[in-house]
Amino acid sequence: MANPDLSALNLPLAARYTRFRESVYMGLEEITLPGYSQPMSELDLQSLWFGGSFGSQFTSVDGKAVRIVDFGIWNSSAGPDFTGCTVEVGGQKLRGDIELDPDARDWERHAHGANQDYTKVVLHLFMDAPLERFFTRNCEHREIVQVQLNPASLPDQAKPNLGLAAARLGRCHAPLREMETERVQSLLESAAQHRLEKKSLRLHRCVAAHGREQAVYQALAQALGYRNNQQPFNILAQRLPVKRLQKLPPAERESLLFGVSGFLESVRYEDTLPETRAYLRELWESWWKQRDASQRWLLPQQALRWKLAAIRPGNHPQRRLGALAAMLKQWPQVSAPLLDAGRWSQEGWRETLLSLKHDFWSTHYTLLAEGAAKPLALIGETRVQEMLANVAYPLLMPERTRLWAEYLELPALLDNQKVRRAVQRLFGDSPQGTEFQKKLHHHQGLLQIYEDFCLQDDSACADCPFPERLKDWS
Ligand code: SF4
Repeated sequence: MANPDLSALNLPLAARYTRFRESVYMGLEEITLPGYSQPMSELDLQSLWFGGSFGSQFTSVDGKAVRIVDFGIWNSSAGPDFTGCTVEVGGQKLRGDIELDPDARDWERHAHGANQDYTKVVLHLFMDAPLERFFTRNCEHREIVQVQLNPASLPDQAKPNLGLAAARLGRCHAPLREMETERVQSLLESAAQHRLEKKSLRLHRCVAAHGREQAVYQALAQALGYRNNQQPFNILAQRLPVKRLQKLPPAERESLLFGVSGFLESVRYEDTLPETRAYLRELWESWWKQRDASQRWLLPQQALRWKLAAIRPGNHPQRRLGALAAMLKQWPQVSAPLLDAGRWSQEGWRETLLSLKHDFWSTHYTLLAEGAAKPLALIGETRVQEMLANVAYPLLMPERTRLWAEYLELPALLDNQKVRRAVQRLFGDSPQGTEFQKKLHHHQGLLQIYEDFCLQDDSACADCPFPERLKDWS
């Protein structure tokens, strides 16, 4: 006797349990990609995909050309990961949803094949697959196009932090000391330009996937995350696209940012100070109406993993989220010089960012902290410089190459542990170390050399090719 088609029964309790089971498993699996030192969560993988880091052109498991025309929307409720997508398969356009799993077999493990929420899936993505061919089918027994993603296609910047190299003088110290200042300058300038080009490629990949405005917004949000919270800020900006937020009144927009970030729900009203309560009431007034539509993102496994330990009060992500809300309030002024290279003015853009204000966040560090005695800058000079280095110039340089001269003049404002370590290894106590730390491009060049050589070396400099190659640098 043939197996009965259980999916046709459409049992509401079964579907409910499937969703429950799915929510328990969702985001728990971790995968270690080749070339990566740390395992990556499913959430990070989804964020990389959605940011266009894997690219937009693929070959399906059965050999067809696959092109992502529209990456769709990151789904906030039950069902596939991304909805409303457009995918071209073998020249034919398909509109529907996309599911991304660490392993092809997760489709069956999570019972997506019997779940009607997955009927519109047109593309199943995965990193790993069994040796024997695994077919993806939906509850109507329609075969779904499969693409196995290749981790080698990810840009270097998508890889997690590789740590620090030992603090000691390197073998390259001697040849560098012998080199004329102009040659060292040209070496660092070239390394900085290479780094800028890589940042530019990554940013323009995101532009190709989601449009220029969304790419700018995501990159600025990431820059607000400082070193520790870039990824949560990135995911938040991916989940709440700028076009959607700009359609909302400011109060609703801000409540959505704080609600989806999880900060609103993690603070107990009774623990807050009276001056904070009015602000919290305002946020909750709007959040409770929007909360249901974001339920999936509030699950512990889907929650943003904010890093709050050892963070300077001024850099607390709650305060930075307040800065993002202020930025969105002035969005036309903030975004215009980046959307149209012809309107770029470094001074003007810097002024716009430095003058941002917020009724609550201009005087508070967190939702639990006491108010500061006097207003604090929402976005300070060093943050603006980080945004210039990581967003504005990488975005604009391909369109206005003469901005390179402007870039070379930027002073170095950031104190960076990796730069200090690179200086120690390359220059030691020599005056070159002081000379080549003054400008932003010096820092960027040093970081590039440090990552390309020092962090790749496991021979205490003995096998590092950098010192010998220096002879050829003219
Ligand atoms: S690893 Fe290479 S680049 Fe780094 S300090 Fe040693 S010799 Fe210099």
